[in-house]
Amino acid sequence: MKKVTIKDLELAGKRLFIRVDFNVPLDGGQVGDDTRIQASLPTIRYALEKGAKVILASHLGRPKGKINPKYSLKPVADRLAKLLGKPVKFANDCVGSEVETQVAGLVDGEVLLLENLRFHEAEENNEEGFSRQLASLCDLYINDAFGTAHRAHASTVGMTQFVAKAGAGFLMEKELEYLGKAVYAPEPPFVVILGGAKVSDKIEVIENLLKSANVLLIGGAMAYTFLKAQGLQIGKSLVENDKLELAKELMSKAKELGVQLILPVDHIVAKNMDTAEGLRETSITDTAEDEAGFDIGSSTIKNYCAEIAKAKTIVWNGPMGIFEKESYAQGTKAVALAVADSKGITVIGGGDSVAAINQAGVANKVSHVSTGGGASLEFLSGIELPGVKALAEAA
Ligand code: AMP
Repeated sequence: MKKVTIKDLELAGKRLFIRVDFNVPLDGGQVGDDTRIQASLPTIRYALEKGAKVILASHLGRPKGKINPKYSLKPVADRLAKLLGKPVKFANDCVGSEVETQVAGLVDGEVLLLENLRFHEAEENNEEGFSRQLASLCDLYINDAFGTAHRAHASTVGMTQFVAKAGAGFLMEKELEYLGKAVYAPEPPFVVILGGAKVSDKIEVIENLLKSANVLLIGGAMAYTFLKAQGLQIGKSLVENDKLELAKELMSKAKELGVQLILPVDHIVAKNMDTAEGLRETSITDTAEDEAGFDIGSSTIKNYCAEIAKAKTIVWNGPMGIFEKESYAQGTKAVALAVADSKGITVIGGGDSVAAINQAGVANKVSHVSTGGGASLEFLSGIELPGVKALAEAA
């Protein structure tokens, strides 16, 4: 898709509005994990080096259109100043005359962070008046908030119509490049690893990736819906009984398309998840009625790692078991290490798999760790993200 990027724009002396994703966890009024702030630094630093007057805007949490100090971006301004090694000005709102005065007072190479966009309900409602107000603050617009690109809000879509030029930042570009390569032009063998709690959350992803994948490895609780659909006894394992037909359809579609859909052959079961009573490793076909599966077993790990080792392109989304608990974390950890060892293009898509790859300490060994949970799932589903479409239209 054709779009303008920050490198195409003449930034010196310009008021540059950058929509970033600073939706970070706060812990006692301080920034908890600053991964998302770090991820936007290349774009911010580049803009500052080029002499732009940088205006940053983001949402934080779900204040639902009301001012709520709990969701103020002020702590983010402080952390950003530390990371940049220079002062970051802060505006108590994101629109209005006070903000306009602050923007007018910016000199080249200065940074101003606006207060939480979602303190105004007009942001999520994508109201034209609000979009125009945001646009009036700047000469140029950059969207670097991939994590919010699946939302058609004023700051991600609306305002792009009212700015002279709109383009993508480095993070947005990297996300689209890696996810795009994986979904639309994967070098085979393309291995997709899906896990997590529910099939229902990932139906569209499976349907879309069946078109380009060679192998689909399924783990986590979602595997039990497929296994039960095959007529296996799965005990008390988590299952979506209303998705059994769908699982059957997906399996026959995979067969039709020549995609190997591979399911666990063994697993770690217990009678009680918390106490781990009766914990044992057993074949999938040997699950007692009072047992539930909480992780993939060692033969499954071996099978999955062998497929991962052969892959030239890998997309991974969702843990192989209840990886939050040590007793059920082995499968996810083994997959994380195997993905990290791969010489192919490796893309980790959002949420729990990102936590798992961090937990295994190998996040720096994969090609791309997506910063957007929902956005990357939608992208993998083949849905055109509104924030990305808006940039293409602006170009
Ligand atoms: P999701 O958000 O759909 O990716 O699901 C992630 C959650 O699925 C994690 O919190 C895991 O603990 C959970 N999960 C993975 N495998 C299992 C399983 N076998 N039984 C129950 N929960 C699981």
